[in-house]
Amino acid sequence: MRKKVIAGNWKMNKDVFETAELIESLKKSVVNAKADVIVCPPFTSLVVAQQLLKGSSIKLGAQDVSVHDDGAYTGEVSLKMLKSAGCEYVIVGHSERRQYFHESNELINQKAKKVLAGGLKSIICVGETLDEREKQITDKVITAQIKGVLAGLTPAELDNVIVAYEPVWAIGTGKNATPQQAEEVHQLIRKLVAQLYSWNVAEKLITQYGGSVKADNAKELLGQADIDGALVGGACLKADSFSAIIAAA
Ligand code: PEP
Repeated sequence: MRKKVIAGNWKMNKDVFETAELIESLKKSVVNAKADVIVCPPFTSLVVAQQLLKGSSIKLGAQDVSVHDDGAYTGEVSLKMLKSAGCEYVIVGHSERRQYFHESNELINQKAKKVLAGGLKSIICVGETLDEREKQITDKVITAQIKGVLAGLTPAELDNVIVAYEPVWAIGTGKNATPQQAEEVHQLIRKLVAQLYSWNVAEKLITQYGGSVKADNAKELLGQADIDGALVGGACLKADSFSAIIAAA
């Protein structure tokens, strides 16, 4: 049985003071959660979040990482910095990074390798655009993304990988994939991982669905056989809506 994992991607929301408020509320509302819970605040909020989360089961993640270790890369944040700020997880390849910062599967693969080699866990995102779904090339796009982002990762490293399927057309739009649409792609991802590695690796792999997950659709989405969790954007910014999703899991 794979454990459910619910992660909140705060994106570019919450300053240090708002972070403290949200973490304090989450600590009260997320007690005895049966799912693993991860929060991914912006870089500037990681240290305060780490301090406030001491003694809590909620884990900390970052939203991105540099492929470089240190040096003249203005604006970049290294894995060592994320580790020292208490991160256990790093999201890589979010569609907003792909879209606005032109991140390729190759770069995302390098970032995932950096995270895993440094001993952290990586949530690696894939997903098709609306145009790609309408052209009925979702399978082709997801296949290329999975092969690209996982290239060269060892079976042991896959133990520390979560694959998040996030259809771009569902992110922040209020229009989630139907449970059937999501399950089909999650099955494809597991099949691809079985082909690239083995069924044993594929069966252990945690997959998340992301894209307009809310308290009222979480139960059905998370009830699908191959969907092991959710990557939540908008609904993770309030303790009550995020904890309702966690309760549904
Ligand atoms: C996300 O940004 O990863 C996401 C899924 O956002 P939302 O839940 O707002 O669609």
